[in-house]
Amino acid sequence: MIAPAERSAVRSARAEPSARRLPVRNPVTGRVDYEVPALDRAAVATEAERLRRAQPRWAALGASGRAEVLLAFAAVIERRQEAIAAALSVDTGRTLLSRREVEGAARNIRRWARLAPQLLGTGPHGEFRPSAILPDVSYAGQLVPYPLAGFISPWNFPVTLSLIDAVPALAAGSAALVKPSEITPRFVDPLRAALAEVPQLAEVLAFVTGDAETGIALVDEVDLVCFTGSVPTGRLVARQAAGRLIPAFLELGGKDPAIVLAGADVERATDAVLRGSVLNAGQVCLSIERIYVDQRIHDAFVERLVEKAQAVRLSCAPEGGEVGPIIHAPQVDVIRRHLADAVERGARIRCGGAFVENGGTWLAPTVVTHVNHGMALMREETFGPILPVMPFADEDEAVFLANDTDFGLSAAVLAESPEAALPLALRVNAGGISLNDCGLTIQTYEPEKTSFGCSGLGGSRMGPASIFRFVRRKALIAQRGRPQPLADYRDPPAETIGSRGRAADAA
Ligand code: NAD
Repeated sequence: MIAPAERSAVRSARAEPSARRLPVRNPVTGRVDYEVPALDRAAVATEAERLRRAQPRWAALGASGRAEVLLAFAAVIERRQEAIAAALSVDTGRTLLSRREVEGAARNIRRWARLAPQLLGTGPHGEFRPSAILPDVSYAGQLVPYPLAGFISPWNFPVTLSLIDAVPALAAGSAALVKPSEITPRFVDPLRAALAEVPQLAEVLAFVTGDAETGIALVDEVDLVCFTGSVPTGRLVARQAAGRLIPAFLELGGKDPAIVLAGADVERATDAVLRGSVLNAGQVCLSIERIYVDQRIHDAFVERLVEKAQAVRLSCAPEGGEVGPIIHAPQVDVIRRHLADAVERGARIRCGGAFVENGGTWLAPTVVTHVNHGMALMREETFGPILPVMPFADEDEAVFLANDTDFGLSAAVLAESPEAALPLALRVNAGGISLNDCGLTIQTYEPEKTSFGCSGLGGSRMGPASIFRFVRRKALIAQRGRPQPLADYRDPPAETIGSRGRAADAA
């Protein structure tokens, strides 16, 4: 609840008179200074209905027509990027990454505007091709978009993850109803202001703010749902979607491993692993959360990693720094629990480990050794700037350890070259493997990938396949010869079937 003294300082998102209002905490000051309406079932249904009514016009524009409208949106986002990024910075307590998120959102829109007409074709259906089996028959395909697609996103990359799936859906011809996280909703109003400048798009794209209740209402309204968030919520969304028989695409948590082989350059490998683990204070689904190092270079690797980790600054320092605050306060308890459990079971903290309370909460990169798979730190998603390092004796053990997980989002293998890393990469169970770097999957949109294990479900969000999640494939099959008469299927008398069977038995 918001304390009365704080109320006057609390800014509000666009008024929704009857809605429940949710307090929003500022991750830098630790204070609640904003609130956002939580749209109820009726409000979500009204928004869904509005989008549904407009969607046929949007689909009728064709891929090229839609691409033009999307390009106009990208241009407005670029023009208004200061305002969107400023709100996002307050949401997340980070400046540079917020700017990059907004730039990246515009880039993603431009990319789909270019790709969609190539992938979907510009006509109402594809070319008719002859059937290899029936000489007089030819066939073509029509791609029919799901009318209304829903998107539910988390707090760690609020703009990126609100739009990453919605944009290809719009490009495919669907309308898009987006529910961003209630933890980081400040960017929504400036983004809505950008959307209002492109009225044709505003008819088919809407943002509904709120928490679980709003998310549940959204899943009940849409024809397909893309969910990005935690495994427990992903399961609930999947069950609800299954009950309605609508497709659910789930992008969930991770516990990404990095394997460092003996031939790896320690300088390079420590740079890659440090960035891969602590970027955005480790609040990245694709963060490196387990580090396995060949025992021959383990000590040298740890020593250099600790030196580099100690040189990292927190953004609450007067000169600023590379590591921002923990955005979602309850996450601090998860990190604390994982560290305490590890230490109790024999782990050693080599640097970091102490939380800095400065309004919000920060944690310096924390290198931990003497870890094992009995510890929560090596099994559950931590979502903090923690680098647990464990030695391995040979490549089989490295692969075993990397694959000893419920997750399978992505991974990294570091060696003297990508070619040297490749044989192990082929054996690791994860959707994307960075060879000789970490986190390349977050920087490249081209390679298609599907999550392994509990990290997700459904088709690839990346690469060309992404857009085909939002269409049904209809086959149009033409007969140019004589339709086969039913007489071709005339059977001999039914009783002969039994007598033939008896004759065969006797023989
Ligand atoms: P979360 O599961 O708590 O919430 C995600 C979203 O779901 C929020 O918008 C929330 O309001 C909504 N929600 C909550 N209950 C719901 C319900 N019953 N029905 C429908 N919607 C509901 O996740 P979070 O804490 O916001 O995000 C962190 C998690 O997201 C981490 O596990 C992280 O790994 C994961 N994540 C995954 C990816 C990926 O691409 N795989 C990317 C970023 C984050």
